[in-house]
Amino acid sequence: MTRYVMGVDVGGTKILIGMASADGEVLRERRYPTDTSSNEAILRSVYAAVDDFWMTLTPADPRPAAIGLGLVGGVDHRAGVWKSAVNIPIKNPEPVAHNLQQRYGVPVALDNDVHCSTLAESRLGAGRGVSDFVLISIGTGVSVGIVANGSLVHGAGNYAGEAGHMVVSDDPTVCKCGRIGCVEPLLSGGGIITATRALLPTHPESSLHRWGTGLHAGHVYAAAAEGDPLAVFIADRAVDCIKKMTVNVVNLLNPELVVFSGGALPLARLTSEVIPHLRTTILPITSASLRDVVLAAVHPEKAGLVGACCLAFDLLDQPA
Ligand SMILES: [Zn+2]
Repeated sequence: MTRYVMGVDVGGTKILIGMASADGEVLRERRYPTDTSSNEAILRSVYAAVDDFWMTLTPADPRPAAIGLGLVGGVDHRAGVWKSAVNIPIKNPEPVAHNLQQRYGVPVALDNDVHCSTLAESRLGAGRGVSDFVLISIGTGVSVGIVANGSLVHGAGNYAGEAGHMVVSDDPTVCKCGRIGCVEPLLSGGGIITATRALLPTHPESSLHRWGTGLHAGHVYAAAAEGDPLAVFIADRAVDCIKKMTVNVVNLLNPELVVFSGGALPLARLTSEVIPHLRTTILPITSASLRDVVLAAVHPEKAGLVGACCLAFDLLDQPA
């Protein structure tokens, strides 16, 4: 009989829940809003969404054998605790796994969203069968998922892969971590929007004014391609960052495959500049074993949910 698990992807604006089989077939996917007004409101949103999904399963639906959650921010995956989050305010550690396990009587696993996306790419995407690869994610933030010797690398505190805080620039922009020179404020989607908005008042000629509050990184890269001076400044700085960061990551980890993912990638320049730069700049010994550089095969909208389901299957399949 096909086994199904429930996956829960908790992001800053929405909670995506679905059930999946081990081969990635997703059933009954639903989307719920996230109330980020307070620590308590977020937790209420998550528990209410899981409750609604579980309670509305019909007798014809398979029962989930386990639950996996992908959460933004700091997660203690061993203890099943959501420790903290900055963009949505989780200030007090919450034993999410314990609470859900008590309520539904099935095993519960959790991890952070990037580790979940990396797991999804490793099991069902471009990283399938690859023992050493990195997933470079450029979305609202910047991070790197690492698979080494076939296993996801968590680090001592589950913070492995925080490449957004790799220092690569002399630019004076202050990062959220308080330092200067970090990748995050110069390359992430959030950082590009913040930096562009800060400079727009001194660039009345910029075509980017027309996007107002709907501005995103893609608009900046498109305007840069048309020669908008403000956009060129922001985009060149970002592309410089992604080049340096990727070279450092590849020289450090010697992956067989680099997978780029995320909604704030400079897609056109990735092919025309970043990948050629990578090939000519990394150490020849690491280049020899870097087989390919590709885009993620699992859709970014689904990667968190699919990865959360992979976590749940791993929990079911681990030896007793
Ligand atoms: Zn930083």
